[in-house]
Amino acid sequence: LKSKLPDVGTTIFTTMSQMAQQYNALNLSQGFPAFDPPAFLTERLVHHLKHSTNQYAPMAGVPALREALSEKAVMLYGAAYNPETEITITSGATEALFCAISSVVGIGDEVIVIEPAYDSYAPAIRLCGGIPVYLTLESPDFCMDWEQLARLISPKTRLIIINTPNNPTGLVWEKSDLDRLAALVRGTGIFVISDEVYEHIVFDGAHFSVMMHEELAPRAFVIGSFGKTFHITGWKVGYCYAPEGLTCEFRKVHQFLTFSVSVTAQFALADILLREKAHYLGLSAFYEHKRNLFNDCLKQTRFRFTPAKGTFFQTVSFEGLTDETDRELVERLTRETQVAAIPVSAFYRHPKGGKMIRFCFAKDDDTLLAAGERLCKIQ
Ligand code: PMP
Ligand code: GLN
Repeated sequence: LKSKLPDVGTTIFTTMSQMAQQYNALNLSQGFPAFDPPAFLTERLVHHLKHSTNQYAPMAGVPALREALSEKAVMLYGAAYNPETEITITSGATEALFCAISSVVGIGDEVIVIEPAYDSYAPAIRLCGGIPVYLTLESPDFCMDWEQLARLISPKTRLIIINTPNNPTGLVWEKSDLDRLAALVRGTGIFVISDEVYEHIVFDGAHFSVMMHEELAPRAFVIGSFGKTFHITGWKVGYCYAPEGLTCEFRKVHQFLTFSVSVTAQFALADILLREKAHYLGLSAFYEHKRNLFNDCLKQTRFRFTPAKGTFFQTVSFEGLTDETDRELVERLTRETQVAAIPVSAFYRHPKGGKMIRFCFAKDDDTLLAAGERLCKIQ
């Protein structure tokens, strides 16, 4: 068999979580919250399992959930999206990313990917016959290089993918960043995917959604995930906001990829999305406490870092600490220190010797303190 993705292996998240289990390590690698979903949500799930239909949801998503998402966009971002024609519920943000990419990228189209980048973007582009064109940001600061982005744009550029707040860097774009992006795509037919799955986890400032940008929103797919927001990564429910023309193409892919998404999960989420907004409005404070707790521990270690501005990830530098690669270091940490992390090189097309690793701090305080204590001991 001639593989369509010959260089793709098992994702680093699966690999490191398995290794964490094998060595009984504290798992700060794969990004998932270690807490139960809120009771107000599981109660509704159980209710709907017993009292509502358990058959296929409508292709675009349960109407009440799309309506709630539409209202939420008005409330938080002042953005008007028609729930009937401009909002689609997907199987996690991963499916939304795949549908958005598939609906606009064809053979030979170029897609600009800003790396370090989430690992699902490039394979999806390549499966559509597209060509990922990488804008490589350098550690430890990952400073956005606008001149280089301008140089990478060509007549073949079809799409630019951005991710704010960013996994793994924890960086958050400001409105001025979106203005610069808008200036670069002005007058072109380039589309934008904005991966905003960490929209509710932002410290020292606010999330500026692409939805709020009047020049970018008309050409953008804005993607989110309930997994991050309600501690339910295993439910796999995400969503995509896009103007009608884009949503129409998006749904053509979605209807033949999954057709529809867990009906019970959607009913439950629809019941609570507006009623329990205090949950996600308080999520930044919830995670800021954890970031600070974990960072206080990290200050006692030999790692160097700039506190994450968003997400539940803290990336640290081990420059000067060891000659190992980041991959070798995370494997040793898992085996010997019993704390698992993710090598940042996994977010690059060609593994870079950036000497950075990523910890997920979406864990109980006790776990974070225990991990901090162990990390103090590393040589
Ligand atoms: N984008 C980013 C940046 C992510 O970190 C993740 C998962 N953590 C996803 C997309 C995928 O989200 P989901 O689990 O909802 O598919
Ligand atoms: N997005 C999560 C992370 O960055 C992992 C998701 C997955 O395992 N596919 O850790």
